[in-house]
Amino acid sequence: MRPGLTRSGRIRASAPALGVAGLTMAGADEPAIPDPTAASGGDRARRRMVEHDVASRGVTDPRVLAAMAAVPRHRFVDPAQMPEAYADRPLPIGGGQTISQPLVVALMLEALELAPGDRLLEVGTGSGYAAAVASLLVARVDTIERIAPLAVQAAQRLAGLGFDRVAVHVGDGSEGWAPAAPYDAVLVSAAAPLLLPALGPQLAVGGRLVAPVGPPGEQRLVRVRRGPEGFAPVEDLGGVRFVPLLPGVEGA
Ligand code: SAH
Repeated sequence: MRPGLTRSGRIRASAPALGVAGLTMAGADEPAIPDPTAASGGDRARRRMVEHDVASRGVTDPRVLAAMAAVPRHRFVDPAQMPEAYADRPLPIGGGQTISQPLVVALMLEALELAPGDRLLEVGTGSGYAAAVASLLVARVDTIERIAPLAVQAAQRLAGLGFDRVAVHVGDGSEGWAPAAPYDAVLVSAAAPLLLPALGPQLAVGGRLVAPVGPPGEQRLVRVRRGPEGFAPVEDLGGVRFVPLLPGVEGA
């Protein structure tokens, strides 16, 4: 157990430090991405990202689009990566892990059909970015990360930026997070070969689970609903590429 972690694995956070970024070059046919560290650059970069990379590729839920426009993605990456923060691709966040692509975060949150009173579980906190966006759409987010230093950093970031409806836990998310179950929505942010059996029972009746499932190169994004009569047949939402879900905990 390290300082900053409570016994339940929940992390107490302090304010994060921020660094400085450089400039970015856009490709010839791409609208330029404003420097997010310049005055109002973050707002302009996010507006461009939402219009160019998210809304134009099929995400229509206005609550999801507003949440994507509100979360400063550049504050969830290393200072050296800040100029790239609004490009529509995953970025390294340390520990061999990545912050998810904005379009994929938006598609998953839209597929979860979130309501303001919902409780959401995320497996795979990473940088905390998806949890931050989700927290603007629901009442409470519990997010679980197996790499302790990533969880500590995400918790510090989230608290420093005022995302106070997110609780970060260190643990193996393939077991879900029983203390706060049941959940109205479960977002799995790392790919397992099969749907995780522990998560189904932690889903409330009426709940939705969205997860990447399948071997590397053949992952599908799937949705499962839990109705009064049990689990509905799995829906295939399309091909995706996620880092693998791994067992156990590191660095705790
Ligand atoms: N949603 C994140 C990106 C997640 S990348 C973001 O917005 O930044 C996937 C994350 O899942 C990685 O940080 C990885 O360490 C974590 N992970 C992999 N297996 C896990 C497990 N069994 N339990 C919890 N987290 C896991």
